[in-house]
Amino acid sequence: MLITGEMLIGARAVRGGVAVLRAFDPARGVEIEPAFGGGDRADVALACSLAGNAFDAFRNAPLATRARFLEAIADNILEMGDVLIERANTETGLPKTRIEGERGRTVGQLRLFAALVREGRWLGATLDSSLPDRKPLARPDLRLQKIPVGPVAVFGASNFPLAFSVAGGDTVSAFAAGCPVVVKAHGAHPGTSELVGRAIQRAVIDNGLPEGVFSLLFGAGNEMGEVLVAHPEIKAVGFTGSRRGGLALVDIASKRREPIPVFAEMSSINPFFVLPGALDKRSDEMASALADSIALGVGQFCTNPGLVILLDSPQARTFVESLSVALAKKEEQTMLTPGISAAYRSAIERRSGTRGVEDLAQGVQTGVSCPARPALFATTATDFLASAELEEEIFGPTSLVITCADEAELIGVAEHVEGQLTATLQLEPQDYDLARRLLPTLERKAGRILANGFPTGVEVSHAMVHGGPFPATSDSRSTSVGAGAIERFLRPVCYQDLPVALLPEPLHDDNPLGLWRLRNGKFSLA
Ligand code: NAP
Repeated sequence: MLITGEMLIGARAVRGGVAVLRAFDPARGVEIEPAFGGGDRADVALACSLAGNAFDAFRNAPLATRARFLEAIADNILEMGDVLIERANTETGLPKTRIEGERGRTVGQLRLFAALVREGRWLGATLDSSLPDRKPLARPDLRLQKIPVGPVAVFGASNFPLAFSVAGGDTVSAFAAGCPVVVKAHGAHPGTSELVGRAIQRAVIDNGLPEGVFSLLFGAGNEMGEVLVAHPEIKAVGFTGSRRGGLALVDIASKRREPIPVFAEMSSINPFFVLPGALDKRSDEMASALADSIALGVGQFCTNPGLVILLDSPQARTFVESLSVALAKKEEQTMLTPGISAAYRSAIERRSGTRGVEDLAQGVQTGVSCPARPALFATTATDFLASAELEEEIFGPTSLVITCADEAELIGVAEHVEGQLTATLQLEPQDYDLARRLLPTLERKAGRILANGFPTGVEVSHAMVHGGPFPATSDSRSTSVGAGAIERFLRPVCYQDLPVALLPEPLHDDNPLGLWRLRNGKFSLA
Protein backbone atom coordinates (compact mmCIF):
# COMPACT_ATOMS: atom_id res chain seq x y z
CA MET A 1 0.00 0.00 0.00
CA LEU A 2 1.28 3.44 -0.96
CA ILE A 3 1.78 6.18 1.66
CA THR A 4 0.66 9.47 0.14
CA GLY A 5 1.04 11.92 3.03
CA GLU A 6 -2.67 12.78 2.96
CA MET A 7 -5.07 13.11 5.86
CA LEU A 8 -8.12 10.86 5.87
CA ILE A 9 -11.24 12.90 6.49
CA GLY A 10 -14.30 10.67 6.31
CA ALA A 11 -14.13 8.79 3.01
CA ARG A 12 -11.72 11.27 1.37
CA ALA A 13 -7.97 11.66 1.27
CA VAL A 14 -7.06 15.33 1.79
CA ARG A 15 -3.64 16.91 1.41
CA GLY A 16 -3.13 19.38 4.25
CA GLY A 17 -1.97 22.76 3.05
CA VAL A 18 -0.65 24.42 6.18
CA ALA A 19 2.66 22.81 7.01
CA VAL A 20 4.91 20.07 5.76
CA LEU A 21 5.69 17.29 8.20
CA ARG A 22 8.39 14.74 7.59
CA ALA A 23 8.80 11.35 9.13
CA PHE A 24 12.22 10.70 10.66
CA ASP A 25 14.25 7.50 10.91
CA PRO A 26 15.86 7.78 14.37
CA ALA A 27 18.22 4.84 13.78
CA ARG A 28 19.78 6.32 10.65
CA GLY A 29 19.21 9.96 11.54
CA VAL A 30 17.54 10.81 8.21
CA GLU A 31 14.17 12.08 7.05
CA ILE A 32 11.88 9.65 5.23
CA GLU A 33 9.65 10.25 2.23
CA PRO A 34 6.93 11.26 1.53
CA ALA A 35 6.08 14.66 2.97
CA PHE A 36 2.84 14.90 4.99
CA GLY A 37 0.57 17.92 4.67
CA GLY A 38 -0.52 19.36 8.01
CA GLY A 39 -4.18 20.36 8.32
CA ASP A 40 -5.80 23.59 9.44
CA ARG A 41 -8.91 24.63 11.38
CA ALA A 42 -11.14 23.93 8.38
CA ASP A 43 -9.87 20.34 8.20
CA VAL A 44 -10.54 19.85 11.93
CA ALA A 45 -14.01 21.37 11.51
CA LEU A 46 -14.82 19.09 8.56
CA ALA A 47 -13.67 15.94 10.43
CA CYS A 48 -15.62 16.93 13.53
CA SER A 49 -18.81 17.83 11.69
CA LEU A 50 -18.71 14.54 9.74
CA ALA A 51 -18.21 12.75 13.09
CA GLY A 52 -21.18 14.58 14.58
CA ASN A 53 -23.34 13.70 11.57
CA ALA A 54 -22.31 10.04 11.76
CA PHE A 55 -23.00 9.64 15.46
CA ASP A 56 -26.68 8.63 15.53
CA ALA A 57 -26.43 6.25 12.58
CA PHE A 58 -23.28 4.62 13.99
CA ARG A 59 -24.58 4.17 17.52
CA ASN A 60 -27.87 2.78 16.23
CA ALA A 61 -26.31 0.31 13.79
CA PRO A 62 -26.81 -3.33 14.89
CA LEU A 63 -24.23 -4.51 17.41
CA ALA A 64 -23.26 -7.28 15.00
CA THR A 65 -22.33 -4.65 12.38
CA ARG A 66 -20.22 -2.74 14.91
CA ALA A 67 -18.45 -5.97 15.91
CA ARG A 68 -17.82 -6.92 12.26
CA PHE A 69 -16.40 -3.42 11.66
CA LEU A 70 -13.80 -3.97 14.43
CA GLU A 71 -12.91 -7.39 13.04
CA ALA A 72 -12.57 -5.91 9.54
CA ILE A 73 -10.04 -3.36 10.87
CA ALA A 74 -8.05 -6.26 12.38
CA ASP A 75 -8.16 -8.18 9.08
CA ASN A 76 -7.14 -5.11 7.06
CA ILE A 77 -4.19 -4.44 9.38
CA LEU A 78 -2.97 -8.03 9.02
CA GLU A 79 -3.48 -7.95 5.26
CA MET A 80 -0.88 -5.17 4.94
CA GLY A 81 1.77 -7.64 6.08
CA ASP A 82 5.37 -6.48 6.17
CA VAL A 83 4.67 -3.04 4.67
CA LEU A 84 3.28 -1.93 8.03
CA ILE A 85 5.98 -3.65 10.09
CA GLU A 86 8.77 -2.13 8.02
CA ARG A 87 7.34 1.39 8.09
CA ALA A 88 6.78 1.30 11.86
CA ASN A 89 10.28 -0.09 12.37
CA THR A 90 11.82 2.69 10.26
CA GLU A 91 9.83 5.48 11.90
CA THR A 92 10.35 4.42 15.52
CA GLY A 93 13.64 2.51 15.66
CA LEU A 94 11.77 -0.26 17.52
CA PRO A 95 12.85 -3.76 16.40
CA LYS A 96 10.64 -5.60 13.90
CA THR A 97 9.97 -8.40 16.38
CA ARG A 98 8.63 -5.86 18.87
CA ILE A 99 6.41 -4.27 16.18
CA GLU A 100 5.11 -7.69 15.17
CA GLY A 101 4.24 -8.40 18.80
CA GLU A 102 2.51 -5.05 19.03
CA ARG A 103 0.54 -5.76 15.87
CA GLY A 104 -0.62 -9.04 17.47
CA ARG A 105 -1.73 -7.13 20.53
CA THR A 106 -3.53 -4.50 18.44
CA VAL A 107 -5.40 -7.12 16.41
CA GLY A 108 -6.19 -9.14 19.56
CA GLN A 109 -7.51 -5.96 21.17
CA LEU A 110 -9.82 -5.31 18.20
CA ARG A 111 -11.17 -8.88 18.42
CA LEU A 112 -11.64 -8.69 22.19
CA PHE A 113 -13.75 -5.55 21.76
CA ALA A 114 -15.71 -7.14 18.89
CA ALA A 115 -16.65 -10.03 21.22
CA LEU A 116 -17.49 -7.53 23.96
CA VAL A 117 -19.78 -5.56 21.65
CA ARG A 118 -21.69 -8.72 20.67
CA GLU A 119 -22.05 -9.86 24.28
CA GLY A 120 -23.60 -6.51 25.27
CA ARG A 121 -23.09 -6.55 29.05
CA TRP A 122 -21.47 -3.10 28.79
CA LEU A 123 -24.92 -1.70 27.91
CA GLY A 124 -25.71 -2.13 31.61
CA ALA A 125 -29.35 -2.96 30.74
CA THR A 126 -31.34 -2.59 33.98
CA LEU A 127 -35.10 -2.92 34.46
CA ASP A 128 -37.02 -1.92 37.61
CA SER A 129 -40.69 -2.88 37.09
CA SER A 130 -43.42 -0.47 38.09
CA LEU A 131 -45.05 -1.02 41.49
CA PRO A 132 -48.46 0.62 41.00
CA ASP A 133 -49.76 -0.52 44.42
CA ARG A 134 -46.75 0.63 46.46
CA LYS A 135 -47.72 2.93 49.36
CA PRO A 136 -47.49 5.80 49.93
CA LEU A 137 -46.26 6.31 46.36
CA ALA A 138 -46.40 4.05 43.32
CA ARG A 139 -43.04 3.26 41.66
CA PRO A 140 -42.80 4.11 37.96
CA ASP A 141 -41.38 1.70 35.36
CA LEU A 142 -37.64 2.52 35.17
CA ARG A 143 -35.24 1.14 32.57
CA LEU A 144 -31.60 2.06 32.07
CA GLN A 145 -29.06 1.49 29.35
CA LYS A 146 -25.71 3.07 28.58
CA ILE A 147 -25.23 5.04 25.39
CA PRO A 148 -22.05 6.41 23.79
CA VAL A 149 -21.03 9.97 24.70
CA GLY A 150 -20.43 11.20 21.13
CA PRO A 151 -17.39 11.83 18.91
CA VAL A 152 -14.05 11.21 20.65
CA ALA A 153 -10.70 12.90 19.91
CA VAL A 154 -7.75 10.49 20.18
CA PHE A 155 -4.06 11.44 20.43
CA GLY A 156 -1.75 8.66 19.27
CA ALA A 157 1.20 7.90 21.57
CA SER A 158 4.81 7.94 20.37
CA ASN A 159 5.93 4.81 22.21
CA PHE A 160 3.32 2.36 20.86
CA PRO A 161 2.93 3.13 17.14
CA LEU A 162 0.20 0.48 16.82
CA ALA A 163 -1.30 -0.53 20.18
CA PHE A 164 -1.71 3.05 21.55
CA SER A 165 -2.04 4.87 18.26
CA VAL A 166 -4.49 5.18 15.35
CA ALA A 167 -6.18 1.79 15.93
CA GLY A 168 -5.05 1.52 19.55
CA GLY A 169 -6.93 1.05 22.79
CA ASP A 170 -8.53 4.53 22.87
CA THR A 171 -9.87 4.35 19.30
CA VAL A 172 -11.09 0.78 19.60
CA SER A 173 -12.85 1.23 22.93
CA ALA A 174 -14.51 4.39 21.60
CA PHE A 175 -15.69 2.56 18.45
CA ALA A 176 -16.92 -0.35 20.60
CA ALA A 177 -18.99 2.11 22.65
CA GLY A 178 -20.48 3.54 19.42
CA CYS A 179 -18.46 6.78 19.24
CA PRO A 180 -17.02 8.18 16.00
CA VAL A 181 -13.30 8.96 16.36
CA VAL A 182 -11.08 11.78 15.10
CA VAL A 183 -7.39 10.88 15.55
CA LYS A 184 -4.61 13.45 15.75
CA ALA A 185 -1.67 11.40 14.45
CA HIS A 186 1.57 11.47 16.43
CA GLY A 187 4.27 13.25 14.43
CA ALA A 188 6.80 10.50 15.26
CA HIS A 189 5.09 7.88 13.03
CA PRO A 190 2.91 9.57 10.38
CA GLY A 191 3.41 6.85 7.73
CA THR A 192 2.39 4.08 10.13
CA SER A 193 -0.59 6.25 11.10
CA GLU A 194 -1.67 6.69 7.49
CA LEU A 195 -1.40 2.95 6.75
CA VAL A 196 -3.50 2.04 9.78
CA GLY A 197 -5.88 4.92 9.05
CA ARG A 198 -6.48 3.53 5.56
CA ALA A 199 -7.24 0.11 7.10
CA ILE A 200 -9.92 1.75 9.26
CA GLN A 201 -11.28 3.92 6.44
CA ARG A 202 -11.74 0.81 4.25
CA ALA A 203 -13.51 -1.03 7.09
CA VAL A 204 -15.92 1.91 7.51
CA ILE A 205 -16.82 1.84 3.81
CA ASP A 206 -16.99 -1.96 3.50
CA ASN A 207 -19.39 -2.20 6.45
CA GLY A 208 -21.73 0.46 5.10
CA LEU A 209 -21.10 2.82 8.00
CA PRO A 210 -21.32 6.62 7.67
CA GLU A 211 -18.01 8.10 6.52
CA GLY A 212 -17.64 10.37 9.56
CA VAL A 213 -17.11 7.38 11.88
CA PHE A 214 -13.37 7.91 11.40
CA SER A 215 -10.95 10.68 10.43
CA LEU A 216 -7.18 11.00 10.73
CA LEU A 217 -5.51 14.42 10.92
CA PHE A 218 -1.87 15.51 10.69
CA GLY A 219 -0.63 18.70 12.32
CA ALA A 220 2.71 20.15 13.29
CA GLY A 221 2.88 21.83 16.71
CA ASN A 222 0.19 22.00 19.34
CA GLU A 223 -2.42 24.03 17.47
CA MET A 224 -4.15 21.15 15.69
CA GLY A 225 -4.68 19.29 19.00
CA GLU A 226 -5.90 22.43 20.76
CA VAL A 227 -8.46 23.19 18.05
CA LEU A 228 -9.63 19.57 17.99
CA VAL A 229 -10.23 19.36 21.76
CA ALA A 230 -12.03 22.72 21.71
CA HIS A 231 -14.39 21.71 18.88
CA PRO A 232 -18.01 21.55 20.08
CA GLU A 233 -18.73 18.23 18.31
CA ILE A 234 -16.02 16.47 20.37
CA LYS A 235 -17.45 14.99 23.58
CA ALA A 236 -14.43 13.19 25.13
CA VAL A 237 -10.66 12.86 24.67
CA GLY A 238 -8.25 9.91 24.90
CA PHE A 239 -4.54 10.78 25.26
CA THR A 240 -1.23 9.07 26.09
CA GLY A 241 1.95 11.10 26.41
CA SER A 242 3.64 13.67 28.62
CA ARG A 243 2.17 15.19 31.78
CA ARG A 244 2.55 18.64 30.27
CA GLY A 245 0.65 17.67 27.08
CA GLY A 246 -2.10 15.84 28.97
CA LEU A 247 -2.64 18.71 31.40
CA ALA A 248 -2.75 21.25 28.55
CA LEU A 249 -5.61 19.27 26.98
CA VAL A 250 -7.42 18.89 30.33
CA ASP A 251 -7.20 22.67 30.69
CA ILE A 252 -8.66 23.32 27.22
CA ALA A 253 -11.43 20.75 27.74
CA SER A 254 -12.46 22.19 31.11
CA LYS A 255 -12.63 25.78 29.77
CA ARG A 256 -14.96 24.97 26.86
CA ARG A 257 -18.52 26.29 26.98
CA GLU A 258 -19.43 22.61 27.39
CA PRO A 259 -16.58 21.04 29.42
CA ILE A 260 -15.75 17.46 28.43
CA PRO A 261 -13.82 14.59 30.05
CA VAL A 262 -10.18 13.99 29.10
CA PHE A 263 -8.78 10.52 29.77
CA ALA A 264 -5.06 11.28 29.74
CA GLU A 265 -2.47 8.67 30.65
CA MET A 266 0.61 10.68 31.55
CA SER A 267 3.34 9.91 34.03
CA SER A 268 4.24 6.97 36.25
CA ILE A 269 7.49 5.76 37.86
CA ASN A 270 6.13 2.40 39.02
CA PRO A 271 7.64 1.67 42.47
CA PHE A 272 9.16 -1.81 42.74
CA PHE A 273 9.47 -3.09 46.34
CA VAL A 274 11.96 -5.86 47.00
CA LEU A 275 11.11 -7.35 50.41
CA PRO A 276 13.65 -9.24 52.61
CA GLY A 277 12.31 -12.78 52.04
CA ALA A 278 12.57 -12.36 48.27
CA LEU A 279 16.14 -11.07 48.65
CA ASP A 280 17.06 -14.16 50.69
CA LYS A 281 15.58 -16.56 48.18
CA ARG A 282 16.27 -15.28 44.66
CA SER A 283 18.47 -12.19 44.69
CA ASP A 284 20.53 -12.89 41.55
CA GLU A 285 17.71 -14.01 39.28
CA MET A 286 15.59 -11.03 40.39
CA ALA A 287 18.45 -8.58 39.76
CA SER A 288 18.94 -9.89 36.24
CA ALA A 289 15.21 -9.87 35.39
CA LEU A 290 14.84 -6.36 36.85
CA ALA A 291 17.72 -5.06 34.69
CA ASP A 292 15.94 -6.60 31.66
CA SER A 293 12.70 -4.86 32.61
CA ILE A 294 14.41 -1.46 33.09
CA ALA A 295 16.13 -1.68 29.68
CA LEU A 296 13.24 -3.30 27.78
CA GLY A 297 12.16 -1.28 24.74
CA VAL A 298 14.86 1.32 25.64
CA GLY A 299 12.80 2.01 28.77
CA GLN A 300 10.10 3.63 26.66
CA PHE A 301 7.22 2.10 28.59
CA CYS A 302 4.84 3.94 30.87
CA THR A 303 5.20 0.92 33.19
CA ASN A 304 9.00 1.09 33.39
CA PRO A 305 10.18 0.32 36.98
CA GLY A 306 11.65 3.73 37.83
CA LEU A 307 12.01 3.25 41.61
CA VAL A 308 13.47 0.19 43.35
CA ILE A 309 12.76 0.29 47.08
CA LEU A 310 14.34 -1.99 49.69
CA LEU A 311 15.38 -2.24 53.35
CA ASP A 312 19.07 -1.78 54.08
CA SER A 313 20.86 -5.10 54.80
CA PRO A 314 23.92 -7.03 53.58
CA GLN A 315 21.57 -8.99 51.26
CA ALA A 316 20.17 -5.73 49.86
CA ARG A 317 23.68 -4.45 49.13
CA THR A 318 24.53 -7.69 47.29
CA PHE A 319 21.31 -7.39 45.27
CA VAL A 320 22.06 -3.78 44.30
CA GLU A 321 25.56 -4.84 43.27
CA SER A 322 24.14 -7.62 41.03
CA LEU A 323 21.58 -5.21 39.57
CA SER A 324 24.35 -2.71 38.79
CA VAL A 325 26.45 -5.37 37.09
CA ALA A 326 23.46 -6.59 35.03
CA LEU A 327 22.48 -3.05 33.97
CA ALA A 328 26.07 -2.14 33.07
CA LYS A 329 25.95 -4.91 30.44
CA LYS A 330 22.93 -3.38 28.69
CA GLU A 331 23.71 -1.51 25.52
CA GLU A 332 22.89 2.06 24.58
CA GLN A 333 20.04 1.96 22.02
CA THR A 334 18.09 4.25 19.71
CA MET A 335 15.09 6.10 21.15
CA LEU A 336 11.88 7.00 19.33
CA THR A 337 12.74 10.58 18.40
CA PRO A 338 15.66 13.02 18.69
CA GLY A 339 13.54 15.05 21.17
CA ILE A 340 12.88 12.09 23.47
CA SER A 341 16.56 11.10 23.30
CA ALA A 342 17.73 14.64 24.15
CA ALA A 343 15.21 14.85 27.04
CA TYR A 344 16.50 11.52 28.44
CA ARG A 345 20.14 12.50 28.22
CA SER A 346 19.64 15.85 29.91
CA ALA A 347 17.48 14.27 32.67
CA ILE A 348 20.20 11.67 33.32
CA GLU A 349 22.82 14.39 33.54
CA ARG A 350 20.68 16.33 36.02
CA ARG A 351 20.05 13.26 38.15
CA SER A 352 23.72 12.39 38.21
CA GLY A 353 24.50 15.80 39.68
CA THR A 354 21.66 15.80 42.24
CA ARG A 355 22.67 16.03 45.91
CA GLY A 356 22.35 12.71 47.72
CA VAL A 357 22.33 10.66 44.50
CA GLU A 358 25.05 8.10 43.77
CA ASP A 359 25.78 6.89 40.21
CA LEU A 360 25.68 3.08 40.34
CA ALA A 361 26.00 1.95 36.74
CA GLN A 362 25.91 3.04 33.12
CA GLY A 363 25.30 0.78 30.13
CA VAL A 364 27.65 0.12 27.24
CA GLN A 365 28.11 3.00 24.82
CA THR A 366 27.54 1.94 21.20
CA GLY A 367 27.43 5.23 19.33
CA VAL A 368 23.94 4.69 17.88
CA SER A 369 21.86 7.60 16.64
CA CYS A 370 19.25 9.14 19.06
CA PRO A 371 20.87 7.26 21.94
CA ALA A 372 19.77 6.32 25.44
CA ARG A 373 22.41 4.70 27.62
CA PRO A 374 20.95 2.69 30.52
CA ALA A 375 21.71 4.26 33.91
CA LEU A 376 21.18 3.22 37.53
CA PHE A 377 21.24 5.58 40.51
CA ALA A 378 20.90 5.18 44.27
CA THR A 379 19.74 7.35 47.13
CA THR A 380 18.46 7.00 50.68
CA ALA A 381 14.85 7.29 51.75
CA THR A 382 15.74 10.45 53.68
CA ASP A 383 17.14 12.17 50.57
CA PHE A 384 14.29 10.90 48.38
CA LEU A 385 11.64 12.25 50.75
CA ALA A 386 13.39 15.64 50.77
CA SER A 387 13.61 16.07 46.98
CA ALA A 388 10.64 16.56 44.64
CA GLU A 389 13.05 16.30 41.70
CA LEU A 390 13.82 12.65 42.46
CA GLU A 391 10.20 11.76 41.89
CA GLU A 392 10.11 13.10 38.32
CA GLU A 393 9.59 10.54 35.57
CA ILE A 394 12.64 10.01 33.37
CA PHE A 395 11.31 8.40 30.20
CA GLY A 396 13.96 5.84 29.28
CA PRO A 397 16.11 2.94 30.56
CA THR A 398 16.86 4.15 34.07
CA SER A 399 15.88 3.51 37.66
CA LEU A 400 16.60 4.90 41.12
CA VAL A 401 17.32 2.53 44.02
CA ILE A 402 16.04 3.81 47.38
CA THR A 403 17.46 2.24 50.51
CA CYS A 404 15.29 2.51 53.63
CA ALA A 405 16.61 2.28 57.20
CA ASP A 406 13.54 0.44 58.53
CA GLU A 407 10.01 -0.68 57.66
CA ALA A 408 8.46 2.63 58.75
CA GLU A 409 10.67 4.45 56.25
CA LEU A 410 9.76 1.99 53.50
CA ILE A 411 6.04 2.54 54.12
CA GLY A 412 6.78 6.29 54.29
CA VAL A 413 8.27 6.17 50.76
CA ALA A 414 5.16 4.34 49.50
CA GLU A 415 2.98 6.96 51.16
CA HIS A 416 5.03 9.81 49.65
CA VAL A 417 4.96 8.87 45.96
CA GLU A 418 2.37 10.29 43.59
CA GLY A 419 -0.30 8.22 41.81
CA GLN A 420 1.05 5.33 39.72
CA LEU A 421 -0.01 2.93 37.00
CA THR A 422 1.61 0.04 38.86
CA ALA A 423 3.25 -0.97 42.14
CA THR A 424 5.20 -4.24 42.38
CA LEU A 425 6.00 -6.40 45.40
CA GLN A 426 8.73 -9.01 45.26
CA LEU A 427 7.95 -11.16 48.28
CA GLU A 428 7.93 -14.57 49.96
CA PRO A 429 5.54 -15.85 52.66
CA GLN A 430 7.75 -14.40 55.46
CA ASP A 431 7.13 -10.93 53.91
CA TYR A 432 3.32 -11.13 54.08
CA ASP A 433 3.06 -9.13 57.34
CA LEU A 434 4.96 -6.20 55.85
CA ALA A 435 3.03 -6.58 52.59
CA ARG A 436 -0.26 -6.43 54.51
CA ARG A 437 0.81 -3.10 56.01
CA LEU A 438 1.93 -1.77 52.62
CA LEU A 439 -1.12 -2.82 50.63
CA PRO A 440 -3.62 -0.19 51.85
CA THR A 441 -1.17 2.51 50.74
CA LEU A 442 -0.47 0.83 47.40
CA GLU A 443 -4.22 0.49 46.74
CA ARG A 444 -4.58 4.24 47.22
CA LYS A 445 -1.60 4.97 44.95
CA ALA A 446 -1.75 2.53 42.04
CA GLY A 447 -4.08 1.09 39.40
CA ARG A 448 -2.39 -2.34 39.30
CA ILE A 449 -0.53 -4.16 42.09
CA LEU A 450 1.75 -7.03 41.04
CA ALA A 451 3.37 -9.78 43.07
CA ASN A 452 6.63 -11.40 41.95
CA GLY A 453 6.38 -10.06 38.41
CA PHE A 454 7.64 -7.08 36.42
CA PRO A 455 5.39 -4.17 35.49
CA THR A 456 6.45 -3.88 31.84
CA GLY A 457 4.00 -5.92 29.76
CA VAL A 458 0.27 -5.17 30.02
CA GLU A 459 -2.22 -7.96 29.29
CA VAL A 460 -5.29 -6.91 27.27
CA SER A 461 -8.10 -8.65 29.14
CA HIS A 462 -11.28 -8.10 31.11
CA ALA A 463 -9.66 -7.59 34.53
CA MET A 464 -6.74 -5.38 33.42
CA VAL A 465 -6.41 -1.86 34.84
CA HIS A 466 -4.00 0.47 33.09
CA GLY A 467 -4.79 3.64 34.97
CA GLY A 468 -4.30 5.13 38.40
CA PRO A 469 -4.49 8.31 40.48
CA PHE A 470 -2.96 11.56 39.17
CA PRO A 471 -0.46 12.00 37.57
CA ALA A 472 -0.66 8.43 36.21
CA THR A 473 -3.92 9.56 34.64
CA SER A 474 -6.21 12.56 34.71
CA ASP A 475 -9.14 10.37 35.84
CA SER A 476 -8.38 7.50 38.20
CA ARG A 477 -11.78 5.87 37.69
CA SER A 478 -10.79 4.48 34.33
CA THR A 479 -8.47 2.14 32.47
CA SER A 480 -7.05 2.72 28.99
CA VAL A 481 -6.26 -0.98 28.41
CA GLY A 482 -8.64 -3.93 28.59
CA ALA A 483 -12.37 -4.33 28.29
CA GLY A 484 -13.06 -1.74 31.01
CA ALA A 485 -11.74 1.00 28.69
CA ILE A 486 -15.16 1.12 27.02
CA GLU A 487 -16.72 2.62 30.18
CA ARG A 488 -14.91 5.93 29.56
CA PHE A 489 -17.03 6.61 26.52
CA LEU A 490 -20.48 5.63 27.83
CA ARG A 491 -23.11 7.36 29.91
CA PRO A 492 -26.34 6.05 31.46
CA VAL A 493 -29.81 7.06 30.28
CA CYS A 494 -32.92 6.16 32.30
CA TYR A 495 -36.31 5.78 30.58
CA GLN A 496 -39.25 6.35 32.92
CA ASP A 497 -42.63 4.93 31.86
CA LEU A 498 -41.70 5.03 28.17
CA PRO A 499 -44.14 3.04 25.99
CA VAL A 500 -42.52 -0.27 25.01
CA ALA A 501 -42.82 0.71 21.34
CA LEU A 502 -40.43 3.61 22.01
CA LEU A 503 -37.90 1.77 24.16
CA PRO A 504 -34.50 0.70 22.78
CA GLU A 505 -34.30 -3.03 21.99
CA PRO A 506 -31.97 -3.96 24.90
CA LEU A 507 -34.76 -2.91 27.29
CA HIS A 508 -37.70 -4.70 25.66
CA ASP A 509 -39.63 -7.05 27.98
CA ASP A 510 -38.84 -10.18 25.95
CA ASN A 511 -35.05 -9.46 25.88
CA PRO A 512 -34.76 -9.91 22.09
CA LEU A 513 -30.94 -9.51 22.16
CA GLY A 514 -30.54 -12.23 24.83
CA LEU A 515 -28.54 -9.93 27.13
CA TRP A 516 -27.59 -10.43 30.77
CA ARG A 517 -29.72 -7.75 32.46
CA LEU A 518 -30.29 -6.57 36.03
CA ARG A 519 -34.00 -7.18 36.44
CA ASN A 520 -35.53 -6.00 39.69
CA GLY A 521 -32.13 -6.27 41.37
CA LYS A 522 -31.20 -9.76 40.08
CA PHE A 523 -28.95 -10.63 37.12
CA SER A 524 -30.89 -12.67 34.60
CA LEU A 525 -31.17 -13.63 30.94
CA ALA A 526 -34.96 -13.18 31.13
P1 NAP B 1 3.68 14.57 24.07
O1 NAP B 1 4.71 15.62 23.88
O2 NAP B 1 2.83 14.73 25.27
O3 NAP B 1 2.78 14.51 22.75
C1 NAP B 1 1.72 13.59 22.60
C2 NAP B 1 0.70 14.14 21.64
O4 NAP B 1 0.00 15.23 22.25
C3 NAP B 1 1.28 14.70 20.35
O5 NAP B 1 0.37 14.42 19.29
C4 NAP B 1 1.34 16.19 20.59
O6 NAP B 1 1.20 16.92 19.38
C5 NAP B 1 0.14 16.42 21.47
N1 NAP B 1 0.34 17.54 22.39
C6 NAP B 1 1.31 17.65 23.32
N2 NAP B 1 1.19 18.79 24.00
C7 NAP B 1 0.12 19.42 23.49
C8 NAP B 1 -0.51 20.66 23.77
N3 NAP B 1 -0.04 21.48 24.71
N4 NAP B 1 -1.59 21.00 23.05
C9 NAP B 1 -2.04 20.19 22.08
N5 NAP B 1 -1.49 19.01 21.75
C10 NAP B 1 -0.42 18.63 22.45
O7 NAP B 1 4.34 13.12 24.18
P2 NAP B 1 5.45 12.43 23.27
O8 NAP B 1 5.76 13.25 22.08
O9 NAP B 1 4.97 11.07 23.02
O10 NAP B 1 6.72 12.29 24.21
C11 NAP B 1 7.28 13.35 24.93
C12 NAP B 1 7.48 12.94 26.39
O11 NAP B 1 6.24 12.39 26.90
C13 NAP B 1 8.48 11.82 26.63
O12 NAP B 1 9.79 12.27 26.71
C14 NAP B 1 7.97 11.24 27.91
O13 NAP B 1 8.46 11.96 29.00
C15 NAP B 1 6.49 11.38 27.86
N6 NAP B 1 5.77 10.15 27.46
C16 NAP B 1 5.12 9.47 28.39
C17 NAP B 1 4.42 8.33 28.03
C18 NAP B 1 3.67 7.54 29.04
O14 NAP B 1 3.28 6.45 28.70
N7 NAP B 1 3.42 8.02 30.22
C19 NAP B 1 4.37 7.90 26.72
C20 NAP B 1 5.04 8.62 25.76
C21 NAP B 1 5.72 9.76 26.16
P3 NAP B 1 2.47 17.66 18.73
O15 NAP B 1 3.60 16.67 18.76
O16 NAP B 1 2.01 17.99 17.37
O17 NAP B 1 2.70 18.82 19.61
